[in-house]
Amino acid sequence: MARCIRTAGLEVHHKRRDGGNELDNAEVLCARCHEATSTYGEPGKSPPPFSEETKRAAQRRAGGRCGCTRTGGCH
Ligand SMILES: [Zn+2]
Ligand SMILES: [Zn+2]
Repeated sequence: MARCIRTAGLEVHHKRRDGGNELDNAEVLCARCHEATSTYGEPGKSPPPFSEETKRAAQRRAGGRCGCTRTGGCH
């Protein structure tokens, strides 16, 4: 399935929970794709939040669209 290109309700997802809060661990996802990630809403330690600057940079990098390329049917 192709990349999701929704532009509404974008959130910045931590690719890896233990991957820190730098840009390389950030992925822009729409709410629906975010909820479909395997770690969403799981109990456990939350990763450190992204700074506003990192969130903006991630959204710029993603072109202001969801960057999900998963194949689980979330988009
Ligand atoms: Zn999406
Ligand atoms: Zn998706």
